[in-house]
Amino acid sequence: MQNSLPDSETLYAALVSKDDNFEGIFVVGVKTTGVFCRPTCTARKPKRENVEFFGSAHDALLHGYRPCKVCAPMEHKGSAPDWLKPLLAEITADPLIRFKDSDLRRRGLDPSRVRYWFKRHHQMTFQAYLRALRIGQAFGRIRHGEKVTGTAFESGYESLSGFADQFKKTTGFAPSKSREGRLIATTRILTPLGPLLAGASAEGICLLEFVDRRMLETQLQRLNKLFKAECVPGFSEHFDNLSVQLAEYFSGKRKEFDIPLVLSGTPFQQRVWAGLRKIPYGSTRSYKEQAEAIGLPSAVRAVAKANGDNRIAIIVPCHRVIGADGELVGYGGGLWRKRFLLALESGQKSLLHT
Ligand SMILES: [Zn+2]
Repeated sequence: MQNSLPDSETLYAALVSKDDNFEGIFVVGVKTTGVFCRPTCTARKPKRENVEFFGSAHDALLHGYRPCKVCAPMEHKGSAPDWLKPLLAEITADPLIRFKDSDLRRRGLDPSRVRYWFKRHHQMTFQAYLRALRIGQAFGRIRHGEKVTGTAFESGYESLSGFADQFKKTTGFAPSKSREGRLIATTRILTPLGPLLAGASAEGICLLEFVDRRMLETQLQRLNKLFKAECVPGFSEHFDNLSVQLAEYFSGKRKEFDIPLVLSGTPFQQRVWAGLRKIPYGSTRSYKEQAEAIGLPSAVRAVAKANGDNRIAIIVPCHRVIGADGELVGYGGGLWRKRFLLALESGQKSLLHT
């Protein structure tokens, strides 16, 4: 992540001038105090030689920094910074809008900052993101019976072949194959623990992972193979439901989820994941107890491995499995998240902000 940041001179200048255009682009660790801050923190600015820049609060935490009390860099983690919100609203309202750099500048936005943000949060360029949204929409329309030609032109393409090329590049199949073809729509859902990447096929949610999770790329590739479908940013009827239920969960009001899930995996994985879903809210089990609960007492390691392969965080509650001695042990989204989820579920509100 770090190498996708602007150079440190630019970052330090942004830090000193409290440039809020850099909110969401980096946080800064202060070596002398062990604290990390937002770019706009009002506390006295550290000397250049005492700072270390990170692309996310998560990275700063991993390097042993703790969040600053003045600027609270953990809050609204991953939510779009204020300067970007109008642009995101525009795109959401109409994914067909074209944005050149000059259009961004006219809106008072620095194109390079827009690019950094999209690279960081969607792992693709701003233009690639817009293209993917357009193609995802076109896919939906053709699937629902609209003609390829009309859709191509209405999607803003000037030639049918240009549209077909881009379509195939994004989806892996020709526009005319949209009825049989499959796509996994992806979106980001904001939570108090940072953004989650959600994926949905027509049948239900097939992915829910923290955006900065190690192995996220690998998970996406596996998904790709399993479903024989490309992941494309876009919309799904399942996302609205999911966002609402996650918000209820994080506010402590929801204990069970009621959302169609698509849990593709081996029979063994399926069995382990089904077992996870039986661990009640607010309780934990050791790996050994979990292996016993699903009738596989001698397969503790394999059960632990299948836990780790869970693609649907929170809803398939792999965070409820802990070490035999009560240690939290591994969690793909990071131990601090596991700690938060378990504290939330046990009603220990006081632990949530440590
Ligand atoms: Zn601060």
